[in-house]
Amino acid sequence: MDERSYDIAIIGGGPAGLTAALYAGRSKVRAVVLEGKAPGGQLLNTELIEDYPGFKSITGGDLAVNMTEQATHFGADLVIAQVNRIRVEDDGIKVIETDEGEYRAPAVIVTAGGNPRKLGVPGEEEFAGRGVSYCAVCDGAFFQGEHLAVVGGGDAAIEEGLFLTRYASKVSIIHRREEFRAQPILLQEAQEHPKIEFVLNTVVESIEGQGRVTHMKLRNVLSGEASDFTVGGVFIFIGFIPNTQLVESHVDHDAGGYYVTNPMTMETSIPGIFAAGDVRSQLTRQVTTAVGDATTATIAASKWVEEWGKGRDPEGGLKVLEHASEEGGWVG
Ligand code: NAP
Repeated sequence: MDERSYDIAIIGGGPAGLTAALYAGRSKVRAVVLEGKAPGGQLLNTELIEDYPGFKSITGGDLAVNMTEQATHFGADLVIAQVNRIRVEDDGIKVIETDEGEYRAPAVIVTAGGNPRKLGVPGEEEFAGRGVSYCAVCDGAFFQGEHLAVVGGGDAAIEEGLFLTRYASKVSIIHRREEFRAQPILLQEAQEHPKIEFVLNTVVESIEGQGRVTHMKLRNVLSGEASDFTVGGVFIFIGFIPNTQLVESHVDHDAGGYYVTNPMTMETSIPGIFAAGDVRSQLTRQVTTAVGDATTATIAASKWVEEWGKGRDPEGGLKVLEHASEEGGWVG
């Protein structure tokens, strides 16, 4: 058997990918999770998770370890390999090109998450890692006693702003309008926090410094007034760009680049390619929604693979699916 042929290839090892692996393993379909870095995804950038049922409070790192152990316990393979491209062959097989070679499967579940959106202002790139950060858990401790700025008004900005109060003398949350996307409970906590101030209706025009960030140029969008704002660091949380560029063929997506999926199955516009978690167009993106998406996607993908296998003529030189056999799935 070709060890790199699977029933389902799962792209990304965050909560969605690990849930997909868990469900695939328990269904006895052969599955591989292809993850470029360490499994856990954004859990690894999150200090505390308090909105995942069953855990009143757990560190992101601990939840990542638990999910990884449970995912592989039922037989899914976890491979650390950077996925570069997914292409669909004429017979419907998906070929996943990675730094470690090619993997093949009739069904793919894309759970590749995304990357932080950039402000795109002068100084942002120049000072990245020297005062500009996109991860409070990773970098917060370097800013002990400093006045920090957080840019954004969503859950991430408010949650990370609260986290940064552990280290900073003061956290200024700079937001371009007065209404927030963040959940009211988080917002209220930040509004009541003695170290947090809000700078509203304000945009960042540039990030400045010498060797390290020393200040930013801000502009009030109502008055047009420009100001210099002295800070030791800038944490930018203004959203997310989904990793939806991997599939070489066109996949239907929304204006933000998120995959549009069938709500019953999580299947994308390409037969046999499913999506779950932060790559999928939906109202909100939580750990809970990621694992829910992945559950649906994996059950649907397993059924899809089974049907796909039955629809092929074993004598015709095409691939045969040995679904749910002890030896495991699809054989080349
Ligand atoms: P988000 O909800 O999309 O919020 C992005 C924020 O950045 C908005 O306030 C937006 O302003 C602002 N923004 C966007 N582009 C900007 C620009 N160029 N300049 C200045 N401000 C800009 O993104 P997120 O906070 O990263 O969250 C992403 C998803 O993850 C959400 O679904 C969120 O619920 C989820 N999440 C959940 C949790 C949790 O539940 N604990 C934690 C983190 C993230 P406008 O409002 O004016 O557009």
